[in-house]
Amino acid sequence: MRKKRYVLGMVLVLIITMLVLTGVVIRFSKSIRNDLQTELVETLRNVAEQNAYTIEREIEAMQDLLIGTSLELGEYLIADEETGRELLMPLVEVHQFKRMGVAYADGTVYSTDNEQMNLASHDNFRRSMKGEVVVTSAITDIVDNDDKINVITTPIYSENQEDVQGVLFAVYSTEYVQNIFDSDLFDGQGYSALINSNGDYIVNAKQSPGYGKKNVLTALTQASEANQDAVKLMRKNMRLGLSGSTYVDYAGARYIYFTPVAFQNSTESWYVITVVPELVLASRLDSVMHHADMLAMILLAVTVVAGSLYIIVYRNSKKQLKRLAYVDALTQRDNVEAFKVKMHRLRDCPGYVVYMDIKDFKIVNNTCGVTKGDQVICEISEKLSQLLNEKELVARVNGADFVLFLKETNDASLLLRVEDIENGMKTISEELNVPRIAAYFGIYPTSHQETVEEAIGHAKRANQFAKQRSDKLYRFYNAKDYEDLQKNKQIEDAFETGIQNHEFEIWYQPKYGANAQSMDGAEALVRWRKADGTVVSPGDFIPLFEKNGMISILDEYVFEEVCKQQKRWQDEGMKIVPVSVNISRASLYYLDIVERYMNILNKYQLDIRYIQLEITESAMEDNEQIQSLIQCFRVAGFKLLLDDFGNGYSSLATLNMAQFDELKLDKGLIDHIGDDRGEKLLYFIIALARSLGLYITAEGVETKEQFRFLQKMKCNTIQGYYFSKPLPEVNYGDLLAS
Ligand code: C2E
Ligand code: MG
Ligand code: MG
Repeated sequence: MRKKRYVLGMVLVLIITMLVLTGVVIRFSKSIRNDLQTELVETLRNVAEQNAYTIEREIEAMQDLLIGTSLELGEYLIADEETGRELLMPLVEVHQFKRMGVAYADGTVYSTDNEQMNLASHDNFRRSMKGEVVVTSAITDIVDNDDKINVITTPIYSENQEDVQGVLFAVYSTEYVQNIFDSDLFDGQGYSALINSNGDYIVNAKQSPGYGKKNVLTALTQASEANQDAVKLMRKNMRLGLSGSTYVDYAGARYIYFTPVAFQNSTESWYVITVVPELVLASRLDSVMHHADMLAMILLAVTVVAGSLYIIVYRNSKKQLKRLAYVDALTQRDNVEAFKVKMHRLRDCPGYVVYMDIKDFKIVNNTCGVTKGDQVICEISEKLSQLLNEKELVARVNGADFVLFLKETNDASLLLRVEDIENGMKTISEELNVPRIAAYFGIYPTSHQETVEEAIGHAKRANQFAKQRSDKLYRFYNAKDYEDLQKNKQIEDAFETGIQNHEFEIWYQPKYGANAQSMDGAEALVRWRKADGTVVSPGDFIPLFEKNGMISILDEYVFEEVCKQQKRWQDEGMKIVPVSVNISRASLYYLDIVERYMNILNKYQLDIRYIQLEITESAMEDNEQIQSLIQCFRVAGFKLLLDDFGNGYSSLATLNMAQFDELKLDKGLIDHIGDDRGEKLLYFIIALARSLGLYITAEGVETKEQFRFLQKMKCNTIQGYYFSKPLPEVNYGDLLAS
């Protein structure tokens, strides 16, 4: 159990750890995504700036070339067209210009490719004629309308360097710039383009969704409403000559970085834009995320496995707990808890709750061993289950106690069932070869008005009473039995305080000499005066105390009280007479009783003549220990009276016991005075006792007739209401004093 709890704990810790780790992985992948995004934008920036820088350098190099050529060769270029062409051709080849040429002051042109044209109306021509170096934006080639070109123009000065004689120009295909851009950007998914500050494409890439369109900002605006902010940002930054990045929806999500191209003499501001689809980020993320996902998946799988394990272990332990709670460990069948639950479900079925107990089952254990005993219990359980009908129950309570619910409708049919069970038990003893198993049954008819616990309790109590019966093995529940039990319990509980508070009073019933009719003795009889003043007769508590052993305490108490009182009266100068106290058979189980009584006697310094002991005849029943104790009392000097002779199972043999001095004839015998047979019986008993040398007292003498008869029979002493009822101590004291 403890191990299971440990495992549960471990699994729980594992699950929590896994969940935390999964959380960490998810967070980690988020931060990776952010990092990659930043890195991507950073790469875009680098590419864009690198491109811009390269363009700047290239164009500036071309400008320098043109300026240098103009300075060095201007004179020859203007002077002779043929010579000029020859001089310019190598430059065209080396620098991959589309063409080079010279425009005279009137705008007429000669070029390396012999094209005829006039640039007089061209703005760049006019500006260069005024001494400016100009680089045009991408313009349509007037020679080849399909092509875009850029033109660099530079003035050709006269020898004195004051007048501009013409313009040297170089034309390069815009595609040339395109070659500067790395076409392999992000495995061909990314691209760069060149635009002016209005957003017009100067150079566009084939991969661009805006290829063939004129203006990137217009294209973005048309592509998605969501691009408004991005367009605004680009417009604003480009107006101010700033670089920046943005995120747009341009045939799918894309990142854009834009940066200005700064070179001298341009007719307008240029920007390099570098674009990459978000997919690139996703594919880059993919490999990292793949691992992170794998890790998360593994963690999740471990969590799921651990969780399932936890649930299985938890369920199992719950099942086991349930088993422990409802299944009897020995028989593996229902225990009382299960019985209660099932009884609850049978609320609508009246029937009988039967509590069955095997009397002295320990004999089986002691003679055949506990293992065999367990086997017998299992067999009983099996047999009882077999004997059940539908909607009937059986459960083992403990030891060899079982409780059943039998769905019978009347006592007679129920008793038949009980008989079946009884027979079943008999066969078990035979089959398993163990001492006879005697089952006792407490029966409680239930209509389910009471709780199941109460019903079982009633049946169990009835079972206890069944064990006290000698005729039958069963007993139906009787509320009075229970009340008596309760009453006895209360009496038992009150006994100790009763002794402490001196609630037990000694009353004295005088005994009179049959001839002299003077009081020559008395019997001490106990009364229990409760705190509320009510007086309880010994008949109501002595039998109970005899059963539970408390009687020895009470007898000793009475003995001491009498000794004390006798001594007190004696000390007061009264003429005391012997008082006999009753000793119960149950008190005679204590071996030190004689010694204890002698100590009390010595304590009060009372002459042993003044205290006598009454022992009932039943105490004599062949018990050697008791007989030897009685002998000890006699040896110690006590006078012994055989009480209640003639009551119940009298044995004449008892008369022959040498220990007794006096015989007390029971009231039962005295009551028969008046009928012939009774009187004859008394006559012979008295004659026999006298012949054995016994002194004779008659008890329960109520009438004059009885008294006269006993007098005639030479009975020595008379005790009975005829002379006196038992008297409280004070009254008896008065009697002594008179
Ligand atoms: P017991 O020792 O045989 O006492 C005589 C009983 O007969 C007393 O009943 C007494 O009151 C009653 N009795 C005497 N004369 C008559 C009569 O003329 N008519 C009727 N109807 N009854 C008479 P009690 O006091 O109720 O005591 C009952 C029994 O309780 C005693 O029977 C004795 O066995 C027992 N007992 C009383 N006190 C003690 C005690 O201190 N210790 C023990 N162990 N037993 C005691
Ligand atoms: Mg007596
Ligand atoms: Mg008696």
